[in-house]
Amino acid sequence: MKSITITPLKPGSVRFEEVPAPVPAPGEVLVKLLEAGICRTDVEIFEGLYGEPPAGSASLVLGHEALGRLEDGGLVVPMVRRSCGGCANCLGGSPDMCSTGNFTERGIKGLNGMLCEYIAESPAYLVPIKPEARPYAVLAEPMSVVAKGLRQAGLIQGRLAWEPKKALVLGAGPIGLLAALTLRAQGRETVVVARRPAGSLKAGIAEACGARYVSTAQTPIPDLAAKYGLFDLVFEATGSADAALDCLGAAAINGAVCLTSVTGGSSAKHVDAARLNRELVLGNRAVFGTVNANRVDFENGLAYLERINSLFPGLLQKLFTSRVPLEKAAGVFKDQAEEIKTVVEISRG
Ligand SMILES: [Zn+2]
Ligand SMILES: [Zn+2]
Repeated sequence: MKSITITPLKPGSVRFEEVPAPVPAPGEVLVKLLEAGICRTDVEIFEGLYGEPPAGSASLVLGHEALGRLEDGGLVVPMVRRSCGGCANCLGGSPDMCSTGNFTERGIKGLNGMLCEYIAESPAYLVPIKPEARPYAVLAEPMSVVAKGLRQAGLIQGRLAWEPKKALVLGAGPIGLLAALTLRAQGRETVVVARRPAGSLKAGIAEACGARYVSTAQTPIPDLAAKYGLFDLVFEATGSADAALDCLGAAAINGAVCLTSVTGGSSAKHVDAARLNRELVLGNRAVFGTVNANRVDFENGLAYLERINSLFPGLLQKLFTSRVPLEKAAGVFKDQAEEIKTVVEISRG
């Protein structure tokens, strides 16, 4: 079958390649893949920053954001992470909270991905999709990351009476914009801050759902609070370590900061550590990181997408900035300022 494959840790080794089609093991079903989204994680694997082939193989099929069809015609979105089989969280059904790090992830770590024609999968890792969700269901995986972040914020903030009125979203990539759309659909006053100038496509999408868009060119993150006040919920999705640190100062008393950026490499930054610590302590502020998602987050995420699609018709489609056939997908792994979500079209069937 056709696939987009990489030799992990070897920059630029991505290629369109014929690989053997999977044969379902007992208990598994065959999933015909229809389309797959590309994200920053794929770009970083392309750049050789991380990625791990399946045991016994030198190459990895890329892709972890997919929509597929079962032989009975039903649509499904496969989940990304698989249990390590050894920790209490994995054994309890929460591999997204794996404590050992020995999990596998489709298209990322030790398990072939979904930029290919077929996968064989256990139904336990397949999330059913309503037929009417077909136009936007490829967003289910990135939306599951947003849904988990918001669910975790709610769980953590169960420590007090908390109903976030004002939210700050940092970053206007797919995760940032999906977070902004969700928060707006929940009726929260939302500010989106990102690098793109006012008037850009990303700014337009944020404004179309009723969020205020602020460009960091006009207002650097440390100046946000003075201009717009403090925020009950801060959702960070820029990919920038600087932004992740700077946004801590934007949280209100009793506020929560949800960090989602996987920042590569290392970077030094001067911070007023005494002030930062003092504000966290005196304000009962909570800061947490979140990665991956549980099945419930895919389900919640799909409900969010459905609501966004009915409240803001056509807006989700604006996130799809380019579509390429699988044969040409080896050329799409780069960051582009106006690019939001590239979708690889695998099959129309
Ligand atoms: Zn992704
Ligand atoms: Zn585990």
